[in-house]
Amino acid sequence: MIWTGSGATPSGTNSTPERPGGLVGLLRASHHLARSVGYTLLAPECLVCETPLTEAADGPVCSSCWSRLQLGQTPQCAVCGAPVAPTPPSERPARCGRCLDARTPIARLHACGAYDGVLRSLIHELKYGRHVSLAPRLGALARTTGYEVLNGADGLVPVPLHPVRRLFRGFNQASLIAQHLDMPVILALRRTRWTASQTRLSAAGRQRNMRQAFRVRWRVRRHGATGVRGRILVLVDDVRTTGATLEACASALLEAGAAEVRALVVARAEPLPRRVPAPR
Ligand SMILES: [Zn+2]
Ligand SMILES: [Zn+2]
Repeated sequence: MIWTGSGATPSGTNSTPERPGGLVGLLRASHHLARSVGYTLLAPECLVCETPLTEAADGPVCSSCWSRLQLGQTPQCAVCGAPVAPTPPSERPARCGRCLDARTPIARLHACGAYDGVLRSLIHELKYGRHVSLAPRLGALARTTGYEVLNGADGLVPVPLHPVRRLFRGFNQASLIAQHLDMPVILALRRTRWTASQTRLSAAGRQRNMRQAFRVRWRVRRHGATGVRGRILVLVDDVRTTGATLEACASALLEAGAAEVRALVVARAEPLPRRVPAPR
């Protein structure tokens, strides 16, 4: 049975101005808990907008929220994925003002959208809410909007998690997304260092933080023809924040003989501004 939205919501039962104590309070609290559990079991809500789900085929997110993800096909900066003005097709991939002089081992990058709104909620629910059933739709989104980056590539390389983080999470969200891009997935990299959060580090600090953080697996390195040597590879990740992680992965692949490394991410996050010390 699926609740269709009629009747009071669980939150509507909390309008009593005073909470009675003792046995009455305990009974009432138990009643509220039972109702909440009942609503959760019988009337699942959309993970993003929390409206009751009425169509089982939508999975944990309603069709309205998915439709709000109609992402534009505007030209993007090939380095960071930010929207840029259209350029003639003969010119090299466009770059935004911030990335004009950036040196990067990544030939070009595509981001499905900004790390904001519905897209941010979906990624949060996949990673931290462990709703792995969102991966196919996010993969389809990346496949559709990132066709230019995927075109002509030989394989996908998901950005790996540190083994400890992978163990605690139970999955790598980048691998799950990559599995739904209809291309060979090569688990070519391993993360050898636990790295701190990057968002408040300078560019040099980010590079220092990520240096030697990734290695190409020896099995992949050994099997030249079926591994990375001479291949055009696409790194896959859920979010690009500073770009340092993707660049460290790309450098490791190029050192192992990859012909070209591109990147496809579901979302592009703006790095937080560095904390400026308060004037004395
Ligand atoms: Zn929704
Ligand atoms: Zn840029």
